[in-house]
Amino acid sequence: MKPTNITTPPRLRGMTIAEIEELIVPAGFEKYRAAQLFQWLQRRGARSLQEMKNIPAALQRWLEANAELGGIATVATMKRSADGSYKFLFELDDGRKIESVLMPDPVRNYWTLCVSSQVGCAVDCKFCVTGLNGFFRQLRVDEIVDQILFSRRQLLTDQPEANFRNLVYMGMGEPLLNPDAVIKSIRILTHKDGVDLSPRRVTVSTSGIVPGMIQLAEAGTGVCLALSLNAPSQAEREIVMPITRKYPLNDVLNVCRKYQFGKHKRITFEYVLLHGINDREEHAHRLRKLVRGIPCKINLIPFNPNSALPFERPDREAVEQFSRILTEDHLTVSVRWSKALDVDGACGQLAGQFRQRRGAVAAAPPENSAAAAVAEMPPDLDFFSPTETDSEEE
Ligand code: SF4
Repeated sequence: MKPTNITTPPRLRGMTIAEIEELIVPAGFEKYRAAQLFQWLQRRGARSLQEMKNIPAALQRWLEANAELGGIATVATMKRSADGSYKFLFELDDGRKIESVLMPDPVRNYWTLCVSSQVGCAVDCKFCVTGLNGFFRQLRVDEIVDQILFSRRQLLTDQPEANFRNLVYMGMGEPLLNPDAVIKSIRILTHKDGVDLSPRRVTVSTSGIVPGMIQLAEAGTGVCLALSLNAPSQAEREIVMPITRKYPLNDVLNVCRKYQFGKHKRITFEYVLLHGINDREEHAHRLRKLVRGIPCKINLIPFNPNSALPFERPDREAVEQFSRILTEDHLTVSVRWSKALDVDGACGQLAGQFRQRRGAVAAAPPENSAAAAVAEMPPDLDFFSPTETDSEEE
């Protein structure tokens, strides 16, 4: 029998045009209807079969009986931040919750969506609320894709001229522990008949899952890679990211050296600065030595304080000094202060709060340090703000 990727039941939002053809042609419908369905769902963001005006009633009825649209079940919460960001808490068909954050770039007038790839996460990074709450299940392709479709539709309803441009897999979960679904979602979202995102505007962030990194590179999607680095040595990284015991830092960096990610073959290293843990000058000196020879840019992310986690944010002076030491070595460095802090925009916080309200976890709800945090956010130091490197890539 011919191998197939079609799920049971078939969920249209997670299917390629070829798969939709494979579904409907044996039932007697024309092949070109597959592309029409794909365009309605992916490009036009249709939320029901009835919206699809040029799809015959017979095909609509057949699909109602034999397939589902798939995707998210409903929106549990949608919040707007003082900086314009949207924070979505989506409910899935089994009642689980995931989150996506949509952030504006006011300077260059485009939007970036951060999506989840799993419900919870098993990686257990010590600075992350999602990791604290554990792993529940993988997201299906249709559930990943629909975070984009729903968010984009909401944005364009509110602001028809908005430029929905960038996508980052940096929400709940480790994308490269769900690589098949993530890679397929990328293929669907970059398809010219769909959302048509440019691969160079798509970034997959990983904690350093070596087999997943290789799989992503070999898939040849052309998307960029961000590695969550966070320490300048094996021993120190094991403390904040225990996954390093399974995938040693040297192996992870060797994949960065050997494989090409994105058109410019440049890795983004994310480095969450934790006061007193990895933010001293000697850490900066060792970090710049560690990444020497790897085409890269470094994003420094001052920790976003949360009462459920035992870390503090370094002060601004320490962040600037850390950055200065790296730039002395001609590294491209950006400081990224988390956006949407007044709606718990940092990784895992909103879904974490919801589960805590339901009593599923024992930890205290994170403090909402909103107004103060937003007020202190320097206008020139901004999450996903334009950087020298971004400009070069225009
Ligand atoms: S930072 Fe990412 S990989 Fe690490 S625990 Fe959180 S969600 Fe998982």
